[in-house]
Amino acid sequence: APLLRFAPSPTGPLHLGGLRMALYNFLFARRHGGKWIMRVEDTDATRYVPGSVEGIRHALNWAGLEYDYGPGKDGPHAPYFQSERLDLYRSYATKLLDSGHAYRCFCSMDQLTETREKLARSGSNASYDKRCLHLTDEEVARKLRAGEKSIVRLNVSDSNLPQRPRGADLVFGPLKDAHASLATDPILLKSDLFPTYHLASVVDDHEMSITHVLRGEEWLPSLPLHLDLYAALKLEPPKFAHMPILLNPDRTKMSKRNGDVQVVDYIRRGWEPAAVLNWLALAGWGVRHNADTVSEEPATRSDAPDSTTILTMQQLLEQFDLLSITQRSTSLDPAKLEYINKHHLSQLSSTPGGLASMAERVHGQIKEAFPTSYSRYKQTSVVQESLNEADFFFFFFSQGRLTNITDIPLHAPYLFQEPNLSSDEANAMLKKVKPQQRST
Ligand code: GLU
Repeated sequence: APLLRFAPSPTGPLHLGGLRMALYNFLFARRHGGKWIMRVEDTDATRYVPGSVEGIRHALNWAGLEYDYGPGKDGPHAPYFQSERLDLYRSYATKLLDSGHAYRCFCSMDQLTETREKLARSGSNASYDKRCLHLTDEEVARKLRAGEKSIVRLNVSDSNLPQRPRGADLVFGPLKDAHASLATDPILLKSDLFPTYHLASVVDDHEMSITHVLRGEEWLPSLPLHLDLYAALKLEPPKFAHMPILLNPDRTKMSKRNGDVQVVDYIRRGWEPAAVLNWLALAGWGVRHNADTVSEEPATRSDAPDSTTILTMQQLLEQFDLLSITQRSTSLDPAKLEYINKHHLSQLSSTPGGLASMAERVHGQIKEAFPTSYSRYKQTSVVQESLNEADFFFFFFSQGRLTNITDIPLHAPYLFQEPNLSSDEANAMLKKVKPQQRST
């Protein structure tokens, strides 16, 4: 059975792109009777933001995407924090040094900068000239004894690697000129003995027996290097599927400046988790046209959903497949979320107990929106007195007004707020009312 992993770095709150990756891992695992892991990639201490892991777990929880193994859920592949697996990465680096696929580089920062500039001037696209590859064993031993700092680099020269794999991605197809892009021997282990992403990711995917790596397109350029690492270690690589980049509707990169990108923003704004997942699932869904793509999946679908098809989690689970992931970067349109949310709300309202659970959530929001009048609202509001809750919701639905459950207290404050009878406005109105009407 497949085993997948969602591998966030704890560098801040979970973004929509991260939630989409978690969703795709979840859907693929569940659809094929497999499991998925959450692995925390926390080996870069400079980018660590405290509280990130809790935030990510909270967001996944809200979305109902429960991982099988990970933080708080121990299993056969533990630990699930890379910072607790450092010895493992070091032992793999040693293996590569011993087999001659990797070498120690003792160049200082200044030397590296100088080399890079020199290479750039000569028109090379490499940033390192492999000079430390030519150190003799004695020289290396002497430098180590003298306590000189070193990093470990992979030697990616053609002749050095056994049967270099050509490589293919389940979404993007065969890699063209894959290894030509590896002009510089990549760093595997840093001088503080922490691994780079590349080494840690390959070691863990192997050690955890991951069968399918589903990750963002931004990692596609790293695939040749990862395949080289598997080859150098004589390991069978997992299958790879890269998901197209998510953009704003204006095709710009998604960022905070362009609207809400963090999952917490969507939680706070009261969007239905099922609607957000529906919206995200379809961002990247479409019929793919790459015929050479390696795939175990059935023939290309002709009935792929479009970006506004309403799908429940059950339907997503039945329909998700990698073949319907497109290579084109796709945009996330907030207007589509409104449309999808509206439909999920009305579906929810017609399920048994749906209205009652919505009413409960609305109560919570009213409490937040009108803290002072909330307790009075409980006794005197229109909801309580003249309409039962089902009628109340029906009122909103029938007018087609409810796109988000938080709309109720915001769009109809008059239902919840006591009028201020001593205001000038109220006095003016009261004066216009005839005495006999006033007494009723
Ligand atoms: N830690 C990487 C990230 O957050 C994960 C990349 C991968 O899935 O291999 O982007």
